[in-house]
Amino acid sequence: MIAFDILIIGAGVVGLAIAAHVAQRFSGNSIAVLERHGKFGQETSSRNSEVIHAGIYYPSGSLKARLCVAGNRMLYDFCRAAHVPHQRTGKLILAADAPEMETIRTLFQTGTANGIDDLKLIDGTELRRMEPQVTAWGALYSPSTGIIDSHQLMARLEARALSMGAVIAYQHDVINVVPGNAATTVLYRAPSGSEERLTCRWFVNAAGLGAQHIAASMGIDCDTAGYRLFFCKGEYFFLRNPAARNLKHLIYPPPFKDLRGLGIHITRSLDGTVRLGPNAVYVDRLDYSVDPAHAKQFYESIQPYLPFVSFSDLQPDMAGIRPKLQGPGETFRDFVICHEHERGLPGIINLIGIESPGLTACLSIAETVGDMIAAAW
Ligand SMILES: Cc1cc2nc3c(=O)[nH]c(=O)nc-3n(C[C@H](O)[C@H](O)[C@H](O)COP(=O)(O)OP(=O)(O)OC[C@H]3O[C@@H](n4cnc5c(N)ncnc54)[C@H](O)[C@@H]3O)c2cc1C
Repeated sequence: MIAFDILIIGAGVVGLAIAAHVAQRFSGNSIAVLERHGKFGQETSSRNSEVIHAGIYYPSGSLKARLCVAGNRMLYDFCRAAHVPHQRTGKLILAADAPEMETIRTLFQTGTANGIDDLKLIDGTELRRMEPQVTAWGALYSPSTGIIDSHQLMARLEARALSMGAVIAYQHDVINVVPGNAATTVLYRAPSGSEERLTCRWFVNAAGLGAQHIAASMGIDCDTAGYRLFFCKGEYFFLRNPAARNLKHLIYPPPFKDLRGLGIHITRSLDGTVRLGPNAVYVDRLDYSVDPAHAKQFYESIQPYLPFVSFSDLQPDMAGIRPKLQGPGETFRDFVICHEHERGLPGIINLIGIESPGLTACLSIAETVGDMIAAAW
């Protein structure tokens, strides 16, 4: 049976970042990634806003806060060094009135406590100077928020992992994981359709929407462990209005009060395409269709800030699905990044609930996983 020192499940941005990191840090050891699709980034990593977040929203001390703030800096450095297309656009979180300004002020305090040192509260006059087309009472300005070409990021991470000797096996669908004393045995379906096995010393579950299934297959009771995932869809609409292309910053409303998401915002891609989204709707299955009837809700949420937009400017685009630990009506849940030795599963690391800001934090998540492996190598 083939044996690897470190095996990673999932070639999304997180699995690839881990592969690139451990291939360098533990060079000389055998490292592989198994991915069920024919190429990288076919799920959540290519269905998101492509925003490099600053780390404003998450409770201080949480993994989301720490790994986002650290990951933001690491990602800009990586993009510069590896020539990944990106842009430090800056972002404005708008307040429509005095009560919303209080919400924004709280975000300023949380973000500052999280270690972001460049946040600024601005009034309506300053806002109009920065974005003449936007109407609001005031805003929180985050200069270190930006956008990134996530496909190019994944391509660079894949190339880096391969150049350091890692193996990436596409069309390898992991079916079952059997933990053992010295090694974990992994059953997978190979491209030929046959079921095959391999073993590994370290097993890293970075399977995104499939992470609960993988954790359950190794015998973890996901309800008791708090690993139950809820699928939360985020739809996007194109904003086809020439004036929207003149917006210089990413424009956000205050976040949803229950923190399901950051609110329907305006992002633009590096090619200049302007999008609205995402909303946050819990769903039962992985269906990426966009309901055109939701255009009204999108329009109403941005119209107060962008009076020049008309309803006919909105056209359905795409959707992504968040692997959320926070169920409907529940409060904040953090990322789970856990070496399961206390559960009697040494050598197994589970990453569960890696929703936003997982793209921003991919490099700091990879470093965290590397630290866990180094601590028990
Ligand atoms: C609507 C939306 C907007 C977002 N916006 C942002 C943003 O602007 N900024 C930000 O930082 N983050 C954002 N995120 C979050 C970010 O996209 C994710 O955190 C990140 O992409 C997660 O990467 P991943 O590698 O963990 O998961 P994925 O990209 O889902 O990768 C997991 C991989 O595992 C594979 N896999 C699963 N099961 C198996 C199996 N049994 N065998 C083999 N392979 C398997 C899958 O095929 C997949 O390729 C957003 C997410 C959504 C849904």
